[in-house]
Amino acid sequence: MQKKIVILGAGESGTGAALLAKSKGFKVFVSDMGQIAPGFRRELEDNNILFEEGQHSFEKFAEVKEVIKSPGIPDSAPIVVKLKSNGVSIISDIEFAGRYSKAHIIGITGSNGKTTTTLWLHHIMKMAGLDAVLSGNIGVSPCRTLVERDPDYFVMELSSFQLDGIFSFRVNTAVITNITPDHLDRYEYRMDNYVASKFRIIQNQLSDDCFIWCLNDDVINRNLRNGITPAHLMPFSLDKECAARVEDMELRTEINERKLILPINEISLTGKHNLYNAMAASLAAMHAGVEIEAIKEGLRTFGGVEHRLEKVGEKNGVLFINDSKATNVNSTWYALDSMKSPVVWIAGGTDKGNDYSELNGLVKEKVKALVCMGLENTPLKNAFGTIVPKLVETKSMEEAVKIAKELAVEGDVVLLSPACASFDLFKNYEHRGNLFKEMVGKTQ
Ligand code: ADP
Repeated sequence: MQKKIVILGAGESGTGAALLAKSKGFKVFVSDMGQIAPGFRRELEDNNILFEEGQHSFEKFAEVKEVIKSPGIPDSAPIVVKLKSNGVSIISDIEFAGRYSKAHIIGITGSNGKTTTTLWLHHIMKMAGLDAVLSGNIGVSPCRTLVERDPDYFVMELSSFQLDGIFSFRVNTAVITNITPDHLDRYEYRMDNYVASKFRIIQNQLSDDCFIWCLNDDVINRNLRNGITPAHLMPFSLDKECAARVEDMELRTEINERKLILPINEISLTGKHNLYNAMAASLAAMHAGVEIEAIKEGLRTFGGVEHRLEKVGEKNGVLFINDSKATNVNSTWYALDSMKSPVVWIAGGTDKGNDYSELNGLVKEKVKALVCMGLENTPLKNAFGTIVPKLVETKSMEEAVKIAKELAVEGDVVLLSPACASFDLFKNYEHRGNLFKEMVGKTQ
């Protein structure tokens, strides 16, 4: 009998999974609670894949043993709760993809730095001329790629939501960049649940595999038990003896007698956090067998990622930096840490219960004015009202940039690094960052 599979959510991951399942002979049904975007809808129709939108009709799930759930749908969604209580197995598209791939899989997770590290590593591997496909949370879904072909390498950004749906998926090279509180609303507000989700990345590793993590991260270290993975352990650190470290202003990576040494001033991205990302990427590339010279070239030439400490331009001697992707306190810490000039700081938005106290030292030292940009600015005012020399409030990007422009003098930096999600005033962080860039372009 033809095997049946249902896919919840028809975005890139769900549509990709539907196409792969269809190509493997499954009877596929796609169910989306919202409206399916026209492009995905057309693909489903063109491939004769049945779907529904605006609802999940439970009768359509009869006799289904396995459901592929898109990462955006929480476990608390009524349909998921009901399926689980009926004993249906709920997996992610990554788990499904893993069944049809023999590629060397590099998976990168963490609270911050996933996208930068993933894109950087992919850049290095492409420079080396390797058949590496960017996938996971960014790029094309792995399932969609597998309809056409199985590449030599998948370089995947993996969110905790995707990891929650893996059971036998094996990651040959696993990276955890760091773990700080984020998305706790999806983890019953329990940090240990969130940490466990991140650690799923190593759960099916074998002895040929490797696990790369930041040895300066206390949360990861605390949760690393002896024997937790049979994989080779390859930590990186700014100041400790490790597989990758920084010493005498050089990045030094070493695996099995293979050594990479690169002066840190040759690395294309600045900031301590990007040294961590560079170390992680260089270790993963080395473990995947990339030539040392190609890794160095990739570390020198990576152009950075939009909305992450992105230099937008300079006007009258004031530099404008867009770090709209800083949606939590930790990423803003690194942004402020990497600033060398006095900062006019634009922050605020949807506060996820932030504890801002870890920013106090940097704010005292570097911030000359804070522009609070959110519907509700009380948490920011409470945290920094007595610390910053000047604090102004606004509810619009246009005004925020205008005020910042007035407050900044030659030699200053205007930094948008909100430490908050964007949903109170913007569609998403890209919308927020793009508006910032537009306004910087417009204002005199
Ligand atoms: P993610 O995909 O995990 O959200 P990004 O690479 O998109 O990570 O970066 C998100 C934010 O965190 C940006 O503001 C960026 O400047 C900052 N960031 C990047 N790498 C790190 C890191 N290793 N540690 C802390 N913050 C980082």
